[in-house]
Amino acid sequence: MAPALPPLGDVIRRYGLEARRKLGQNFLLDLNLTGRIVRAAGDLEGVNVIEVGPGPGGLTRALLDTGATKVTAIEKDERCIAALDELAAAYPGRFEIIRGDALEINVEALTPPPRQIVANLPYNIATPLLLRWLKRINNIDRLTLMFQKEVGDRLTAAPGSKAYGRLSVVTQWLCEARHDFNVSNTAFTPPPKVASSVVTLFPRPEPLALASWPALEAVTAAAFGQRRKMLRASLRKLGLNPAALGIDPTARAEDLDVEEFCVLARAYAEIC
Ligand code: SAM
Repeated sequence: MAPALPPLGDVIRRYGLEARRKLGQNFLLDLNLTGRIVRAAGDLEGVNVIEVGPGPGGLTRALLDTGATKVTAIEKDERCIAALDELAAAYPGRFEIIRGDALEINVEALTPPPRQIVANLPYNIATPLLLRWLKRINNIDRLTLMFQKEVGDRLTAAPGSKAYGRLSVVTQWLCEARHDFNVSNTAFTPPPKVASSVVTLFPRPEPLALASWPALEAVTAAAFGQRRKMLRASLRKLGLNPAALGIDPTARAEDLDVEEFCVLARAYAEIC
């Protein structure tokens, strides 16, 4: 049975956790919503969960109420640590708090597999955090993450859509991306300016097609950097001729699927 815990509002007042914008603090106090995020993460029985930014611990509580073996949470704000220590005492041996910057920590150093990341991310560093995890994706079994909606849309965007861009290509190259649900800004304390969405990423056993990260980064940067230009123009500076690779030279970046970007990346790796 879940231990009796004080309401989150009391925790925030008692430990003086007024939200700080520079730490991307928008707290979730609604237990229905934290439960919904955890359900989107799937069956956590036997899983080592890593949470980034537990804050006052709302989502953490919902994670601890699953069959997860352990929840390891990385928090940068020292003010939250005392509040979280109280939660750790309520779940002996199942909750560990790591003080530090998630941008400098390798999750594989924290817990053994199977590992899942579940987090309501600080939006100011959500994209760099995701890129860090994607670069070491073999270490992670699944990620269920709250982003600002505009970023969440990019992760799941299909070719031809406005949101499709560099982040869509690199994410979908390595993972299947599923949009779970949107969350109104009024669900947070304090409310952020924008709506949010929860996305689950399922790492692929192998990348969708052969390519190296730096080459894929280079071709997507060149193509999407001049989004409105035809590929024959935007890729010229990389020395690539799309037509010679079977790719329509009059297409634009948003028309190409991930495999086609990988064709370009392989060709670029050969000449650079
Ligand atoms: N999980 C809590 C919730 O849902 O109510 C808080 C989420 S809040 C959007 C983001 C959290 O990330 C804050 O607790 C903030 O202090 C923490 N944070 C911000 N930057 C961080 C960093 N670089 N490393 C670890 N935690 C960070």
